[in-house]
Amino acid sequence: GGADIECEVLVLGAGPGGYSAAFRSADLGMKTVLVERYATLGGVCLNVGCIPSKALLHVAAVTDSANDMAEHGIAFGKPKIDLDKLRGWKEKVVGKLTGGLAGMAKARKVDVVRGVGTFLDPHHLEVALTTGDGKEQSGDKQVIKFGKCIIAAGSQSVKLPFIPDDPRVVDSTGALELTNIPKRMLVIGGGIIGLEMATVYSSLGTRIDVVEMLDGLMTGADRDLVKVWEKVNKPRFESVMLKTRTTEVKAQKNGLKVSFEGDNAPAEPQTYDMILQSVGRTPNGKKLGAENAGVAVDERGFIATDKQMRTNVGHIFAIGDIIGQPMLAHKAVHEAHVAAEAAAGQKSFFDARQIPSVAYTDPEVAWAGKTEEQCKAEGIKYGKAVFPWAASGRAIANGRDEGFTKVIFDEQTHRIIGGAIVGTQAGDLISELCLAIEMGCDPTDIGKTIHPHPTLGESVGMAAEMFEGVCTDLP
Ligand code: FAD
Repeated sequence: GGADIECEVLVLGAGPGGYSAAFRSADLGMKTVLVERYATLGGVCLNVGCIPSKALLHVAAVTDSANDMAEHGIAFGKPKIDLDKLRGWKEKVVGKLTGGLAGMAKARKVDVVRGVGTFLDPHHLEVALTTGDGKEQSGDKQVIKFGKCIIAAGSQSVKLPFIPDDPRVVDSTGALELTNIPKRMLVIGGGIIGLEMATVYSSLGTRIDVVEMLDGLMTGADRDLVKVWEKVNKPRFESVMLKTRTTEVKAQKNGLKVSFEGDNAPAEPQTYDMILQSVGRTPNGKKLGAENAGVAVDERGFIATDKQMRTNVGHIFAIGDIIGQPMLAHKAVHEAHVAAEAAAGQKSFFDARQIPSVAYTDPEVAWAGKTEEQCKAEGIKYGKAVFPWAASGRAIANGRDEGFTKVIFDEQTHRIIGGAIVGTQAGDLISELCLAIEMGCDPTDIGKTIHPHPTLGESVGMAAEMFEGVCTDLP
Protein backbone atom coordinates (compact mmCIF):
# COMPACT_ATOMS: atom_id res chain seq x y z
CA GLY A 1 0.00 0.00 0.00
CA GLY A 2 0.94 3.65 -0.22
CA ALA A 3 2.32 5.81 2.50
CA ASP A 4 0.92 9.08 3.83
CA ILE A 5 4.37 10.41 4.73
CA GLU A 6 7.86 9.51 3.59
CA CYS A 7 11.06 10.30 5.43
CA GLU A 8 14.72 9.40 5.57
CA VAL A 9 14.75 8.87 9.34
CA LEU A 10 11.81 7.90 11.50
CA VAL A 11 12.29 8.16 15.26
CA LEU A 12 9.80 6.20 17.39
CA GLY A 13 9.33 7.76 20.85
CA ALA A 14 10.13 11.32 21.95
CA GLY A 15 11.94 10.82 25.26
CA PRO A 16 15.53 12.05 25.78
CA GLY A 17 16.70 9.35 23.37
CA GLY A 18 14.10 10.05 20.71
CA TYR A 19 14.17 13.84 20.62
CA SER A 20 17.99 13.88 20.69
CA ALA A 21 18.10 11.40 17.81
CA ALA A 22 15.54 13.38 15.82
CA PHE A 23 17.33 16.70 16.37
CA ARG A 24 20.73 15.27 15.41
CA SER A 25 19.23 13.58 12.33
CA ALA A 26 17.66 16.85 11.22
CA ASP A 27 20.89 18.76 11.92
CA LEU A 28 22.69 16.28 9.67
CA GLY A 29 20.32 17.21 6.86
CA MET A 30 18.02 14.18 6.86
CA LYS A 31 14.23 14.51 6.53
CA THR A 32 13.09 13.38 9.96
CA VAL A 33 9.75 12.32 11.43
CA LEU A 34 9.28 11.90 15.19
CA VAL A 35 6.38 9.71 16.36
CA GLU A 36 5.09 10.13 19.92
CA ARG A 37 1.80 9.01 21.43
CA TYR A 38 1.59 11.73 24.08
CA ALA A 39 0.79 15.40 23.51
CA THR A 40 4.13 16.70 24.80
CA LEU A 41 7.66 15.77 23.82
CA GLY A 42 10.21 14.70 26.44
CA GLY A 43 9.09 11.17 27.30
CA VAL A 44 9.32 9.80 30.80
CA CYS A 45 12.26 12.01 31.79
CA LEU A 46 10.66 15.41 31.22
CA ASN A 47 7.02 14.57 31.88
CA VAL A 48 7.01 12.00 34.68
CA GLY A 49 10.63 11.30 35.61
CA CYS A 50 13.88 13.23 36.07
CA ILE A 51 12.48 16.74 35.88
CA PRO A 52 9.26 16.74 37.97
CA SER A 53 11.01 14.61 40.62
CA LYS A 54 13.82 17.15 40.85
CA ALA A 55 11.39 20.07 41.03
CA LEU A 56 9.83 18.42 44.09
CA LEU A 57 13.18 17.36 45.57
CA HIS A 58 14.31 20.96 45.36
CA VAL A 59 11.30 22.04 47.40
CA ALA A 60 11.94 19.21 49.88
CA ALA A 61 15.59 20.21 50.30
CA VAL A 62 14.79 23.88 50.88
CA THR A 63 12.06 22.96 53.36
CA ASP A 64 14.39 20.65 55.28
CA SER A 65 17.20 23.22 55.30
CA ALA A 66 14.81 25.86 56.63
CA ASN A 67 13.89 23.47 59.43
CA ASP A 68 17.57 22.91 60.24
CA MET A 69 18.21 26.65 60.56
CA ALA A 70 16.85 26.74 64.11
CA GLU A 71 20.11 25.10 65.21
CA HIS A 72 22.01 28.00 63.66
CA GLY A 73 19.91 30.66 65.30
CA ILE A 74 17.19 31.34 62.74
CA ALA A 75 13.85 29.72 63.43
CA PHE A 76 11.06 29.53 60.85
CA GLY A 77 7.49 28.55 61.55
CA LYS A 78 5.95 25.22 60.67
CA PRO A 79 5.70 25.04 56.84
CA LYS A 80 2.25 25.70 55.36
CA ILE A 81 1.75 23.49 52.37
CA ASP A 82 -0.40 24.63 49.45
CA LEU A 83 -0.52 21.43 47.44
CA ASP A 84 -2.24 22.98 44.41
CA LYS A 85 0.43 25.65 44.17
CA LEU A 86 3.23 23.12 44.60
CA ARG A 87 1.74 20.92 41.89
CA GLY A 88 1.31 23.98 39.71
CA TRP A 89 4.94 24.92 40.09
CA LYS A 90 6.08 21.40 39.18
CA GLU A 91 3.85 21.52 36.10
CA LYS A 92 5.26 24.89 35.12
CA VAL A 93 8.80 23.50 35.27
CA VAL A 94 7.81 20.57 33.07
CA GLY A 95 5.87 22.83 30.71
CA LYS A 96 8.82 25.15 30.18
CA LEU A 97 11.00 22.26 29.10
CA THR A 98 8.49 20.34 26.97
CA GLY A 99 7.46 23.62 25.33
CA GLY A 100 11.11 24.33 24.62
CA LEU A 101 11.44 20.97 22.90
CA ALA A 102 8.41 21.60 20.72
CA GLY A 103 10.03 24.86 19.60
CA MET A 104 13.31 23.14 18.87
CA ALA A 105 11.55 20.45 16.81
CA LYS A 106 9.77 23.14 14.79
CA ALA A 107 12.94 25.15 14.24
CA ARG A 108 14.62 22.05 12.82
CA LYS A 109 11.59 21.13 10.69
CA VAL A 110 11.25 17.79 12.46
CA ASP A 111 7.76 16.56 11.58
CA VAL A 112 6.05 15.40 14.80
CA VAL A 113 3.28 12.80 14.36
CA ARG A 114 1.15 12.16 17.44
CA GLY A 115 0.05 8.56 17.79
CA VAL A 116 0.89 4.98 18.70
CA GLY A 117 3.30 3.44 16.20
CA THR A 118 3.34 -0.20 15.08
CA PHE A 119 5.69 -1.65 12.48
CA LEU A 120 4.02 -3.07 9.38
CA ASP A 121 7.24 -4.25 7.71
CA PRO A 122 10.94 -3.23 7.66
CA HIS A 123 10.15 0.09 5.95
CA HIS A 124 6.66 1.07 7.14
CA LEU A 125 5.20 2.16 10.47
CA GLU A 126 1.46 2.56 11.02
CA VAL A 127 0.47 5.28 13.46
CA ALA A 128 -2.90 5.19 15.26
CA LEU A 129 -3.34 8.93 15.82
CA THR A 130 -4.03 10.16 19.33
CA THR A 131 -5.85 13.24 20.52
CA GLY A 132 -5.87 15.39 23.64
CA ASP A 133 -3.17 14.38 26.10
CA GLY A 134 -2.47 11.26 24.07
CA LYS A 135 -4.44 8.78 26.08
CA GLU A 136 -7.20 8.48 23.48
CA GLN A 137 -7.07 7.41 19.85
CA SER A 138 -8.96 9.36 17.21
CA GLY A 139 -9.55 6.33 15.00
CA ASP A 140 -7.45 7.84 12.19
CA LYS A 141 -4.31 6.16 10.94
CA GLN A 142 -1.25 7.25 9.02
CA VAL A 143 1.36 5.10 7.36
CA ILE A 144 4.91 6.39 7.34
CA LYS A 145 7.51 5.04 4.92
CA PHE A 146 11.06 5.33 6.23
CA GLY A 147 14.56 4.78 4.95
CA LYS A 148 16.03 4.35 8.41
CA CYS A 149 14.43 4.04 11.82
CA ILE A 150 15.58 4.74 15.37
CA ILE A 151 13.52 2.99 18.05
CA ALA A 152 13.43 4.99 21.30
CA ALA A 153 10.22 3.68 22.84
CA GLY A 154 11.54 3.58 26.41
CA SER A 155 10.22 1.73 29.41
CA GLN A 156 7.47 1.70 32.01
CA SER A 157 7.25 0.75 35.67
CA VAL A 158 6.89 -2.86 36.72
CA LYS A 159 3.69 -3.79 38.54
CA LEU A 160 3.70 -6.43 41.25
CA PRO A 161 1.06 -9.04 40.37
CA PHE A 162 -0.50 -9.47 43.82
CA ILE A 163 -1.19 -5.80 44.47
CA PRO A 164 -4.83 -4.76 43.98
CA ASP A 165 -5.96 -2.14 41.50
CA ASP A 166 -6.64 0.73 43.87
CA PRO A 167 -6.18 4.48 43.49
CA ARG A 168 -4.11 4.45 46.69
CA VAL A 169 -1.52 2.22 44.99
CA VAL A 170 0.70 4.31 42.73
CA ASP A 171 3.86 4.05 40.67
CA SER A 172 6.32 6.94 40.30
CA THR A 173 3.98 8.67 37.82
CA GLY A 174 1.11 8.55 40.31
CA ALA A 175 3.34 9.69 43.16
CA LEU A 176 4.48 12.69 41.10
CA GLU A 177 0.86 13.71 40.53
CA LEU A 178 0.82 14.77 44.16
CA THR A 179 -2.94 14.41 44.58
CA ASN A 180 -2.71 14.29 48.37
CA ILE A 181 -0.20 13.98 51.17
CA PRO A 182 -0.80 10.61 52.80
CA LYS A 183 -0.29 10.18 56.52
CA ARG A 184 1.49 6.90 56.16
CA MET A 185 3.07 5.47 53.02
CA LEU A 186 4.88 2.27 52.11
CA VAL A 187 7.60 2.44 49.47
CA ILE A 188 8.19 -0.95 47.88
CA GLY A 189 11.69 -1.05 46.42
CA GLY A 190 14.76 0.71 47.79
CA GLY A 191 16.26 1.84 44.49
CA ILE A 192 16.97 5.40 43.43
CA ILE A 193 13.43 6.25 42.23
CA GLY A 194 11.76 4.88 45.37
CA LEU A 195 14.13 6.69 47.70
CA GLU A 196 13.81 9.99 45.83
CA MET A 197 10.02 9.89 46.09
CA ALA A 198 10.27 8.79 49.72
CA THR A 199 12.44 11.86 50.38
CA VAL A 200 9.85 14.18 48.81
CA TYR A 201 6.90 12.76 50.72
CA SER A 202 8.72 12.58 54.03
CA SER A 203 9.68 16.26 53.70
CA LEU A 204 5.99 17.02 53.12
CA GLY A 205 5.19 15.26 56.39
CA THR A 206 4.34 11.67 55.44
CA ARG A 207 5.47 8.84 57.76
CA ILE A 208 7.32 6.40 55.54
CA ASP A 209 8.34 2.75 55.60
CA VAL A 210 10.62 1.32 52.93
CA VAL A 211 10.69 -2.40 52.12
CA GLU A 212 13.43 -3.97 49.99
CA MET A 213 13.92 -7.62 49.07
CA LEU A 214 17.70 -7.39 48.72
CA ASP A 215 20.12 -6.84 51.60
CA GLY A 216 20.90 -3.24 50.69
CA LEU A 217 19.52 0.00 49.23
CA MET A 218 20.78 1.58 45.96
CA THR A 219 22.48 -1.67 45.06
CA GLY A 220 24.72 -0.27 42.29
CA ALA A 221 26.66 1.94 44.72
CA ASP A 222 29.51 0.96 47.03
CA ARG A 223 28.27 0.28 50.57
CA ASP A 224 30.41 2.97 52.23
CA LEU A 225 28.39 5.66 50.40
CA VAL A 226 25.05 4.12 51.28
CA LYS A 227 26.09 3.87 54.94
CA VAL A 228 26.42 7.65 55.13
CA TRP A 229 23.01 8.07 53.51
CA GLU A 230 21.51 5.57 55.98
CA LYS A 231 22.94 7.32 59.00
CA VAL A 232 21.58 10.71 57.96
CA ASN A 233 18.20 9.29 56.95
CA LYS A 234 17.58 7.16 60.02
CA PRO A 235 15.32 9.78 61.62
CA ARG A 236 13.55 10.48 58.30
CA PHE A 237 12.04 7.02 57.83
CA GLU A 238 10.07 5.00 60.35
CA SER A 239 11.44 1.70 59.22
CA VAL A 240 13.69 0.48 56.40
CA MET A 241 13.07 -3.25 56.06
CA LEU A 242 15.87 -4.96 54.16
CA LYS A 243 15.70 -8.62 53.08
CA THR A 244 11.96 -8.37 53.43
CA ARG A 245 9.11 -8.68 50.95
CA THR A 246 5.44 -7.81 50.86
CA THR A 247 3.32 -10.95 50.54
CA GLU A 248 -0.20 -9.56 50.47
CA VAL A 249 -1.97 -6.24 50.11
CA LYS A 250 -5.63 -5.95 51.09
CA ALA A 251 -7.57 -2.87 50.05
CA GLN A 252 -9.72 -1.81 52.98
CA LYS A 253 -11.80 1.23 53.66
CA ASN A 254 -9.42 2.50 56.34
CA GLY A 255 -6.29 1.83 54.32
CA LEU A 256 -4.15 -0.72 52.54
CA LYS A 257 -3.32 -3.62 54.83
CA VAL A 258 0.07 -5.08 53.99
CA SER A 259 1.61 -8.38 55.15
CA PHE A 260 5.36 -8.86 55.15
CA GLU A 261 7.76 -11.78 55.18
CA GLY A 262 11.53 -11.84 55.75
CA ASP A 263 14.37 -10.85 58.07
CA ASN A 264 12.92 -7.51 59.12
CA ALA A 265 9.21 -8.13 58.67
CA PRO A 266 6.97 -6.60 61.34
CA ALA A 267 5.02 -9.24 63.27
CA GLU A 268 1.65 -7.69 62.42
CA PRO A 269 0.34 -6.51 59.04
CA GLN A 270 0.66 -2.73 58.66
CA THR A 271 -1.92 -0.28 57.31
CA TYR A 272 -0.96 2.51 54.90
CA ASP A 273 -2.79 5.33 53.11
CA MET A 274 -0.60 5.00 50.04
CA ILE A 275 1.73 2.46 48.50
CA LEU A 276 4.42 3.42 46.00
CA GLN A 277 5.55 0.56 43.79
CA SER A 278 9.08 1.25 42.65
CA VAL A 279 10.45 -2.19 41.89
CA GLY A 280 12.04 -1.42 38.55
CA ARG A 281 11.19 -0.60 34.96
CA THR A 282 10.44 -2.85 32.01
CA PRO A 283 11.21 -2.02 28.34
CA ASN A 284 8.39 -1.39 25.84
CA GLY A 285 9.96 -3.66 23.19
CA LYS A 286 7.09 -6.12 22.92
CA LYS A 287 4.48 -3.50 22.07
CA LEU A 288 5.81 -2.22 18.75
CA GLY A 289 5.10 -5.01 16.28
CA ALA A 290 8.89 -5.23 15.98
CA GLU A 291 8.56 -8.77 14.60
CA ASN A 292 6.91 -7.33 11.46
CA ALA A 293 10.12 -5.42 10.81
CA GLY A 294 12.27 -8.44 11.67
CA VAL A 295 13.75 -6.73 14.73
CA ALA A 296 14.68 -9.21 17.46
CA VAL A 297 13.22 -8.50 20.90
CA ASP A 298 14.29 -10.64 23.84
CA GLU A 299 12.00 -12.31 26.38
CA ARG A 300 12.02 -9.30 28.68
CA GLY A 301 11.32 -6.81 25.90
CA PHE A 302 14.84 -5.49 25.34
CA ILE A 303 16.28 -4.91 21.86
CA ALA A 304 19.96 -5.76 21.39
CA THR A 305 22.24 -3.44 19.41
CA ASP A 306 25.86 -3.17 18.34
CA LYS A 307 28.13 -0.23 19.18
CA GLN A 308 26.59 1.83 16.41
CA MET A 309 23.19 1.20 18.01
CA ARG A 310 22.11 -1.01 15.07
CA THR A 311 19.64 -3.79 15.77
CA ASN A 312 19.83 -7.13 13.91
CA VAL A 313 18.16 -5.25 11.01
CA GLY A 314 20.86 -3.04 9.51
CA HIS A 315 18.81 0.12 8.85
CA ILE A 316 16.92 0.01 12.16
CA PHE A 317 18.60 1.35 15.29
CA ALA A 318 17.55 1.30 18.96
CA ILE A 319 18.57 3.51 21.89
CA GLY A 320 17.75 4.36 25.50
CA ASP A 321 15.86 2.36 28.11
CA ILE A 322 14.61 -0.12 25.52
CA ILE A 323 18.13 -1.48 24.89
CA GLY A 324 19.06 -2.08 28.53
CA GLN A 325 20.66 -0.85 31.71
CA PRO A 326 21.49 1.61 32.99
CA MET A 327 18.10 3.18 32.26
CA LEU A 328 19.25 6.79 32.43
CA ALA A 329 18.48 9.86 30.37
CA HIS A 330 22.11 10.85 29.75
CA LYS A 331 22.88 7.38 28.40
CA ALA A 332 19.90 7.63 26.03
CA VAL A 333 21.06 11.04 24.74
CA HIS A 334 24.58 9.85 23.92
CA GLU A 335 23.28 6.71 22.22
CA ALA A 336 20.87 8.91 20.26
CA HIS A 337 23.69 10.97 18.79
CA VAL A 338 25.58 7.83 17.79
CA ALA A 339 22.49 6.32 16.13
CA ALA A 340 21.67 9.49 14.16
CA GLU A 341 25.28 9.90 13.04
CA ALA A 342 25.52 6.23 12.06
CA ALA A 343 22.22 6.56 10.16
CA ALA A 344 23.84 9.46 8.26
CA GLY A 345 26.72 7.17 7.32
CA GLN A 346 29.24 8.46 9.87
CA LYS A 347 31.57 6.13 11.72
CA SER A 348 30.39 7.11 15.21
CA PHE A 349 30.10 4.41 17.85
CA PHE A 350 29.19 4.26 21.53
CA ASP A 351 32.32 3.78 23.61
CA ALA A 352 31.75 5.40 27.02
CA ARG A 353 34.26 4.65 29.75
CA GLN A 354 31.72 5.68 32.33
CA ILE A 355 28.02 6.42 32.76
CA PRO A 356 27.38 8.23 36.04
CA SER A 357 24.54 7.35 38.43
CA VAL A 358 23.06 9.83 40.88
CA ALA A 359 20.48 9.48 43.64
CA TYR A 360 19.15 13.00 44.25
CA THR A 361 18.31 12.12 47.82
CA ASP A 362 19.49 13.95 50.95
CA PRO A 363 22.46 13.64 50.98
CA GLU A 364 22.96 12.93 47.29
CA VAL A 365 24.81 9.78 46.29
CA ALA A 366 26.77 9.79 43.02
CA TRP A 367 29.16 7.37 41.40
CA ALA A 368 30.93 7.01 38.05
CA GLY A 369 33.17 4.47 36.34
CA LYS A 370 34.20 1.42 38.32
CA THR A 371 32.98 0.94 41.85
CA GLU A 372 35.18 -0.90 44.36
CA GLU A 373 32.73 -3.81 44.17
CA GLN A 374 33.20 -3.96 40.38
CA CYS A 375 37.00 -3.74 40.66
CA LYS A 376 36.96 -6.68 43.07
CA ALA A 377 34.60 -8.70 40.89
CA GLU A 378 36.73 -8.01 37.78
CA GLY A 379 40.04 -8.66 39.55
CA ILE A 380 41.32 -5.13 38.93
CA LYS A 381 44.13 -4.09 41.30
CA TYR A 382 43.03 -0.67 42.44
CA GLY A 383 43.99 2.01 44.87
CA LYS A 384 41.70 4.57 46.41
CA ALA A 385 41.78 7.83 48.30
CA VAL A 386 38.90 9.04 50.40
CA PHE A 387 38.63 12.66 51.44
CA PRO A 388 36.21 13.10 54.36
CA TRP A 389 34.08 16.21 54.22
CA ALA A 390 34.63 16.62 57.95
CA ALA A 391 37.89 18.23 56.74
CA SER A 392 36.18 20.51 54.19
CA GLY A 393 35.72 24.10 55.30
CA ARG A 394 32.78 24.59 52.98
CA ALA A 395 30.97 21.42 54.06
CA ILE A 396 31.38 22.43 57.70
CA ALA A 397 30.19 25.97 56.97
CA ASN A 398 27.14 24.46 55.24
CA GLY A 399 26.44 22.39 58.34
CA ARG A 400 26.65 19.28 56.17
CA ASP A 401 30.01 17.60 56.68
CA GLU A 402 28.82 13.97 56.77
CA GLY A 403 29.92 13.19 53.22
CA PHE A 404 33.08 12.06 51.51
CA THR A 405 34.74 12.07 48.10
CA LYS A 406 36.41 8.92 46.81
CA VAL A 407 38.74 8.51 43.88
CA ILE A 408 39.62 5.04 42.56
CA PHE A 409 42.62 4.43 40.35
CA ASP A 410 44.16 1.47 38.56
CA GLU A 411 47.39 0.48 40.33
CA GLN A 412 48.99 -0.65 37.07
CA THR A 413 48.18 2.26 34.77
CA HIS A 414 47.71 4.90 37.51
CA ARG A 415 44.64 6.13 35.65
CA ILE A 416 41.51 7.19 37.46
CA ILE A 417 38.90 4.54 36.75
CA GLY A 418 36.21 5.39 39.26
CA GLY A 419 34.87 8.03 41.56
CA ALA A 420 32.10 8.35 44.11
CA ILE A 421 30.71 11.13 46.24
CA VAL A 422 28.13 11.19 49.00
CA GLY A 423 27.05 14.59 50.31
CA THR A 424 24.99 17.61 49.33
CA GLN A 425 25.38 18.44 45.61
CA ALA A 426 27.20 15.15 44.95
CA GLY A 427 25.39 14.84 41.61
CA ASP A 428 26.86 18.11 40.39
CA LEU A 429 30.29 17.38 41.83
CA ILE A 430 30.73 13.97 40.17
CA SER A 431 31.18 15.51 36.69
CA GLU A 432 34.85 16.31 37.30
CA LEU A 433 35.51 12.65 37.96
CA CYS A 434 33.47 11.67 34.87
CA LEU A 435 35.79 13.84 32.78
CA ALA A 436 38.87 12.45 34.54
CA ILE A 437 37.83 8.89 33.73
CA GLU A 438 37.02 9.70 30.09
CA MET A 439 40.32 11.54 29.61
CA GLY A 440 42.38 8.86 31.33
CA CYS A 441 43.70 11.33 33.92
CA ASP A 442 46.02 10.19 36.65
CA PRO A 443 45.52 11.54 40.17
CA THR A 444 48.26 14.13 39.73
CA ASP A 445 46.30 15.78 36.89
CA ILE A 446 43.53 16.55 39.36
CA GLY A 447 45.71 17.01 42.44
CA LYS A 448 47.80 19.68 40.70
CA THR A 449 44.72 21.44 39.31
CA ILE A 450 43.94 24.47 41.45
CA HIS A 451 40.38 24.23 42.70
CA PRO A 452 38.56 27.24 44.16
CA HIS A 453 38.52 27.51 47.94
CA PRO A 454 36.31 27.02 49.85
CA THR A 455 34.10 24.75 47.72
CA LEU A 456 32.76 21.23 47.88
CA GLY A 457 34.46 20.67 44.52
CA GLU A 458 37.77 21.17 46.27
CA SER A 459 37.17 17.77 47.87
CA VAL A 460 37.87 16.12 44.52
CA GLY A 461 41.25 17.84 44.33
CA MET A 462 41.98 16.96 47.96
CA ALA A 463 41.14 13.29 47.41
CA ALA A 464 43.41 13.19 44.34
CA GLU A 465 46.22 14.87 46.26
CA MET A 466 46.07 12.09 48.82
CA PHE A 467 47.65 9.86 46.17
CA GLU A 468 50.92 11.81 46.30
CA GLY A 469 53.48 9.41 47.59
CA VAL A 470 51.33 6.50 46.48
CA CYS A 471 51.93 7.22 42.80
CA THR A 472 55.57 8.31 43.11
CA ASP A 473 56.64 6.65 39.87
CA LEU A 474 54.10 8.51 37.76
CA PRO A 475 55.38 9.22 34.27
P1 FAD B 1 11.36 7.37 27.45
O1 FAD B 1 11.71 8.60 28.16
O2 FAD B 1 10.68 6.27 28.17
O3 FAD B 1 10.50 7.80 26.20
C1 FAD B 1 9.88 6.88 25.36
C2 FAD B 1 8.75 7.58 24.65
O4 FAD B 1 8.26 6.72 23.64
C3 FAD B 1 7.57 7.89 25.55
O5 FAD B 1 7.26 9.26 25.46
C4 FAD B 1 6.45 7.01 25.02
O6 FAD B 1 5.18 7.62 25.11
C5 FAD B 1 6.86 6.82 23.59
N1 FAD B 1 6.36 5.58 22.99
C6 FAD B 1 6.58 4.31 23.39
N2 FAD B 1 6.01 3.45 22.57
C7 FAD B 1 5.42 4.17 21.60
C8 FAD B 1 4.68 3.84 20.43
N3 FAD B 1 4.43 2.57 20.09
N4 FAD B 1 4.22 4.84 19.66
C9 FAD B 1 4.46 6.13 19.99
N5 FAD B 1 5.15 6.51 21.06
C10 FAD B 1 5.64 5.53 21.86
N6 FAD B 1 17.16 9.33 34.54
C11 FAD B 1 18.19 10.14 34.77
O7 FAD B 1 19.16 10.10 34.02
N7 FAD B 1 18.19 11.03 35.80
C12 FAD B 1 17.16 11.11 36.67
O8 FAD B 1 17.19 11.92 37.60
C13 FAD B 1 16.04 10.27 36.47
N8 FAD B 1 14.98 10.33 37.28
C14 FAD B 1 13.90 9.54 37.03
C15 FAD B 1 12.81 9.62 37.89
C16 FAD B 1 11.69 8.85 37.67
C17 FAD B 1 10.51 8.95 38.59
C18 FAD B 1 11.67 7.94 36.55
C19 FAD B 1 10.48 7.09 36.28
C20 FAD B 1 12.77 7.84 35.72
C21 FAD B 1 13.90 8.63 35.95
N9 FAD B 1 15.02 8.56 35.12
C22 FAD B 1 16.08 9.37 35.37
C23 FAD B 1 15.08 7.64 33.97
C24 FAD B 1 14.80 8.37 32.65
O9 FAD B 1 13.53 8.96 32.74
C25 FAD B 1 14.86 7.40 31.49
O10 FAD B 1 16.10 6.74 31.48
C26 FAD B 1 14.68 8.12 30.16
O11 FAD B 1 13.46 8.79 30.11
C27 FAD B 1 14.78 7.12 29.01
O12 FAD B 1 14.64 7.79 27.81
P2 FAD B 1 14.15 7.05 26.50
O13 FAD B 1 14.27 8.05 25.41
O14 FAD B 1 14.84 5.75 26.34
O15 FAD B 1 12.63 6.66 26.76
